[in-house]
Amino acid sequence: MDYPKRYDVIVIGGGHAGTEAALAAARMGCSTLLLTHNIETLGQMSCNPAIGGIGKSHLVKEIDALGGAMALATDRGGIQFRVLNSRKGPAVRATRAQADRLLYKQVVRSILENQPNLDLFQQAADDIMVEGETVKGVVTNMGVRFHAQTVVLTTGTFLGGVIHIGMQNSSGGRAGDAPSIALAQRLRELPFQVDRLKTGTPPRIDARSVDFSVMEEQPGDTPVPVMSYMGRLEDHPQQISCYITKTNEQTHDIIRSGFDRSPMFTGKIEGVGPRYCPSIEDKINRFSDKDSHQIFVEPEGLTTHELYPNGISTSLPFDIQIAAVRSIRGFENAHITRPGYAIEYDYFNPQELTHSLENKFIHNLYFAGQINGTTGYEEAGAQGLLAGVNAALRAQEKDPWWPTRDQAYLGVLVDDLITLGTKEPYRMFTSRAEYRLLLREDNADLRLTEKGRELGLVDDDRWQAFCEKREAIEQQRQRLNSTWIQPDSAEARKANQFLERPLNREYCLADLLRRPELTIERIESITDTVIENRQVAEQLEIQVKYEGYISRQQEEIERLQRYENTALPDDFDYCSISGLSNELQQKLVQVKPATIAQASRIQGMTPAAVSLLIIQLKKRS
Ligand code: FAD
Repeated sequence: MDYPKRYDVIVIGGGHAGTEAALAAARMGCSTLLLTHNIETLGQMSCNPAIGGIGKSHLVKEIDALGGAMALATDRGGIQFRVLNSRKGPAVRATRAQADRLLYKQVVRSILENQPNLDLFQQAADDIMVEGETVKGVVTNMGVRFHAQTVVLTTGTFLGGVIHIGMQNSSGGRAGDAPSIALAQRLRELPFQVDRLKTGTPPRIDARSVDFSVMEEQPGDTPVPVMSYMGRLEDHPQQISCYITKTNEQTHDIIRSGFDRSPMFTGKIEGVGPRYCPSIEDKINRFSDKDSHQIFVEPEGLTTHELYPNGISTSLPFDIQIAAVRSIRGFENAHITRPGYAIEYDYFNPQELTHSLENKFIHNLYFAGQINGTTGYEEAGAQGLLAGVNAALRAQEKDPWWPTRDQAYLGVLVDDLITLGTKEPYRMFTSRAEYRLLLREDNADLRLTEKGRELGLVDDDRWQAFCEKREAIEQQRQRLNSTWIQPDSAEARKANQFLERPLNREYCLADLLRRPELTIERIESITDTVIENRQVAEQLEIQVKYEGYISRQQEEIERLQRYENTALPDDFDYCSISGLSNELQQKLVQVKPATIAQASRIQGMTPAAVSLLIIQLKKRS
């Protein structure tokens, strides 16, 4: 049957990409349908119930700055918060939260259910309707045809999903969920390049069978950080500790004894796994000189005894899993509640997408999340938001939007994916961004919220809070620049207590703050003032202390901007450029870069090759 309502945007899949996509499109005023296997699993964390961390919290804060749900849900579901790299520079500082799996899911669902313009429907999508080269809607496994102007595909690890434990394997989207077989087959009939990746998860353990007294306790930070710019301490539920233990020689021997039944080492698994998040068998195999690996013992929630032993993801046979776990200090009597496993799934070559995440072959069809070859909730959520925005813009007949590499980690993520593609699960690192000092987790709102408001993503409350913050930063900066401290004043005497070289002339507060010994808190104590909004105080300190570096990065960006704005036409004939290697010609034909700057980021492109492109471009005009 044809469903009576026609939608602007249909999102397939209610994971991290799908929920952000659906919320974004609905916030922008589009009538939106979120079609997913199971409403109970909306916002489900397939693996570790943790959000953020290095590189990843930057994405979470960007989603938040654009009005998304992930940071808000983390604040309301987070049971342990820490700031990682807190002693390092602001560019690499990152907030990480352990979440209560159930609470997190509940918050996501409640945000979805209360979002105007958004309908939920529980059913598997088995087919997408395509007319000519344009998607027209989705068909469910019951035969219901939903019509829409645009479709966003966010089916995660479910397409052709195969779960491996030892030499046994079975079909599944993740443990406990059916895979998406019909849709996977249908997508393989369309002109997309499909390949296989794999990821894995550790066994879960019953906390009642664990001896925490022999482990190192790891409490969260005090004061407890918040993830969202709108987050308040009162939003957090009860906070609890994680623990640390480690593997030992005996554990490694047990694991080695299972190598001959490992689906990874016997070739049963063909998909490539995440290099930066290897399974324990992979770690022991690759780093045979290490006699121990750390395990973070993380609670799965406040109302469950289940623990997530972070660091021992495995697809070894269950008898090996149990023996290995029980050889670890504190786990001697451990009861495993769920075996660890690996999953192989289909993903699509992201080089077949444009920067707006639209497929190059089928118009109005957008791809986001794990199916683009990424791993992680944050990477999925960020892409989902972008795909939702662009599906909505298309439905509204407006131009697409995406952030550039100097505006957001989201810009880096998408540009990396569509320019370079990926052969292994892609995760975000701060090292992937050239302009790290500009793309900090503390300033995602200053970078993106105004754009979010213009797109219709940011509601009045967030916008008002943002404007007040921005104004307060400006006012405080002016105060720091225009308040002068005389060398013989009471303020100078207070400042001298902290300084190696006492003040010998007048200084403005901004110059004082640039001194390594002085923090914003010390400036406040010297001048007897307190900045109420601590986000403003933090911002002020970073902006002033790093002003020189920041303006140098900005100058570099302006220099490169020329290339960003130099468009390469779709029909540019790369094969006729003499002097360009065959390999580069092929890569350029495949990637079809939109600008000279994008072409320059293709692996193997040298400055000489970029010059050839520019010369050829000039010849054309
Ligand atoms: P998912 O969260 O997988 O959501 C997909 C959604 O689509 C689900 O709701 C599903 O029901 C729905 N769906 C699928 N097909 C259909 C259909 N045909 N019709 C309707 N609905 C459909 N990430 C890490 O960062 N580190 C890790 O160590 C890690 N380990 C993992 C281990 C395992 C075993 C798994 C399964 C995942 C792991 N991940 C890990 C990845 C992480 O879970 C994903 O990156 C993230 O969940 C991707 O989000 P997504 O929205 O793209 O897809």
